[in-house]
Amino acid sequence: MELLMYNGEELWNWVEGAKRIGIAGHIRPDGDCIGTCLALYNYILRNFSCETDIYLEEIPESFRILKNVDDVNSLYPDAAPYDLFIAVDCGDFERLGKAGRYLKEAKLSLCLDHHDTNTGYAMKNRIVPTAAAAAEALFDLMDPELIDINIAEALYLAIVHDTGVFKHSNTTRHTMEVAGRLLEYGVSSSKIIDGTFYEKTYLQNQILGRCLMESIVALDGKVIFSSVNRKVQALYGLESSDTEGVIDQLRVTKGVEVAILLKEMNPQVWRVSMRSCTSVNVGEICMKFGGGGHIRAAGCIMNGSMHDVINALLREIEQRL
Ligand code: AMP
Ligand code: MN
Ligand code: MN
Repeated sequence: MELLMYNGEELWNWVEGAKRIGIAGHIRPDGDCIGTCLALYNYILRNFSCETDIYLEEIPESFRILKNVDDVNSLYPDAAPYDLFIAVDCGDFERLGKAGRYLKEAKLSLCLDHHDTNTGYAMKNRIVPTAAAAAEALFDLMDPELIDINIAEALYLAIVHDTGVFKHSNTTRHTMEVAGRLLEYGVSSSKIIDGTFYEKTYLQNQILGRCLMESIVALDGKVIFSSVNRKVQALYGLESSDTEGVIDQLRVTKGVEVAILLKEMNPQVWRVSMRSCTSVNVGEICMKFGGGGHIRAAGCIMNGSMHDVINALLREIEQRL
């Protein structure tokens, strides 16, 4: 395990020297994960001659506009050990899911990430917490001459999603500069922003409305939470991507510092999403419960009744307000 960061020259030398490469992101992949994995895949395909496999869990329909998305393997079959395996946008080993064994077996394993809570689980790690998206960290390693519009589109989509369209506090001058440079390859920002971020299915809007209507405020209105239990998920036939964006709408409630969304995965097992506005470090709270993430956006999995989970979280939040 090495926490020292590798640089672009080393990365592309390793890619050059590898016959077979595997790429994977975290489970339940989001826009940054999918965009960055595909950008890396397309960049290697375009500029190197190695055989490359890309693994991601099921990709939400709106992201299927990206080039070579059909090459993504969601079945995680047995594969001979890779010469090089790259884990992308994945803050800890467990979140690699079924791709974990490719990393374990690879001759050389790399992690390319931006989660503050990442402690470095690959042989070589590049973790850039100041990067708004894994895509921003990847762009900085790429040769601008070797990027085409398809790679730029994937990177741009990734940045749009992890910054909530450049509105979250992780957005820096550098993030905007990278996005600006990506536009120069011909990326249509409205196609990416409207088509993959703002556009919602009828079902997604319905569930958003329901979550907002049933939300509850606590701690003098500084915390807002809502939940989607298994009954509701079954009733609407929800997929995990159908609640994307709900937490962001909860967070912008006037006076709120922390927003929480609970999704029931199994009886008494909840996937917790947290967001904060200015002061509470939700990454730290989620890490306490075995999860992780960033200062303003984090998640974890917790057991118990909804009230147990909320009470435990409220205690942690209260201490930090
Ligand atoms: P989400 O609320 O699922 O959008 O996740 C927000 C952030 O927290 C993302 O950067 C995730 O990578 C991270 N995160 C979410 N769930 C977990 C978890 N169970 N363990 C570690 N990190 C997580
Ligand atoms: Mn992600
Ligand atoms: Mn990310």
